[in-house]
Amino acid sequence: MTTLDDLPIRDDLRGRTPYGAPQLDVPVRLNTNENSYPVPEPVVEAIGKAVAAELRDLNRYPDRDAVALRADLAAYLGHGLTADHVWAANGSNEIQQQLLQAFGGPGRTALGFTPAYSMHPLLALGTGTRWVPARRGEDFGLTAGEAVAQVREHRPDVVFLCSPNNPTGTALDPAVVAAVLDEAPGVVIVDEAYAEFARPGTVSALAVLPGHPRLVVTRTMSKAFGFAGGRLGYLAADPAVVDAVQLVRLPYHLSALTQAAARAALAHRDALLGTVAAIMQQRDRIVAELRARGHRVADSDANFVLFAVEGDQAVAWRTLLDAGVLVRDVGLPGWLRVTAGTPTETDAFLTAMETVS
Ligand code: PMP
Repeated sequence: MTTLDDLPIRDDLRGRTPYGAPQLDVPVRLNTNENSYPVPEPVVEAIGKAVAAELRDLNRYPDRDAVALRADLAAYLGHGLTADHVWAANGSNEIQQQLLQAFGGPGRTALGFTPAYSMHPLLALGTGTRWVPARRGEDFGLTAGEAVAQVREHRPDVVFLCSPNNPTGTALDPAVVAAVLDEAPGVVIVDEAYAEFARPGTVSALAVLPGHPRLVVTRTMSKAFGFAGGRLGYLAADPAVVDAVQLVRLPYHLSALTQAAARAALAHRDALLGTVAAIMQQRDRIVAELRARGHRVADSDANFVLFAVEGDQAVAWRTLLDAGVLVRDVGLPGWLRVTAGTPTETDAFLTAMETVS
């Protein structure tokens, strides 16, 4: 049998394993920060109609520039943005890959503050971009001073900031974004996949886009919109950044079905985003309850919570799985991450946690 090692694969991919959380068939799945609520029936119908209307024309390529969808996304974001400021792709993963293809690549460097979203270094690897794992503070925090010092030392072509940060859950102080923008010689990407769940008072980097042509904010419909299966991510930036990613995007990368489904979902955003408040309530309930039980818990502006357990987190992860609750071991010694879903899922998680120290 041929194995990967027998193939003339790139040296830097040898011995690697693909990214992916386990997709296990367990009663309570709280490991990938999905929205636990199914798409409401009226929205199912609207998406069905919109997709059906495209079927006869599938002999033709879709709108390569996805202009109508980009206009809808810009209208959703507000901040005076237009279709020219927005670009869409199959998930924000693809958006970030395109950004690295355009602004990173061989001979170039990308820097991120770990622990953060583990796909950022993998996208760097895939695009031949050298990855610099910069550090966060003891409590997973990041001050402007710490961030700027590391950007100054490495002079990266691309800086990844993640706010709210995955896996810690905490949003960045806007002063950090501003300081990094001042110092960074290249592009600064603020990954805001979880922005809709942020606690009141949190400021999106969208607010500082005017006058900062090297700032890119990435968003997704996978989380708050409950549209992970639809695969729709997007960015907001200066129109010149949109011109740049068009140099590397595959032609017709976003299918007519995806564009139609995403537009129908956006037209029903009130129904879809109606789950956000309920999820934030469960998030705050998990934080409060685990703290009351004596666990260390990171502040969360997202739809998940990072919490500490005693001893080996892999043992605690297994104990929870045996109780039918799948959470995420992100490889941080002593910590696990749980997604906030429905009240019933929170009940099951908190009950299972009684067996974990
Ligand atoms: N950014 C962050 C911080 C994430 O946690 C995720 C999903 N886990 C993504 C981006 C990618 O999401 P998608 O490709 O579904 O838009």
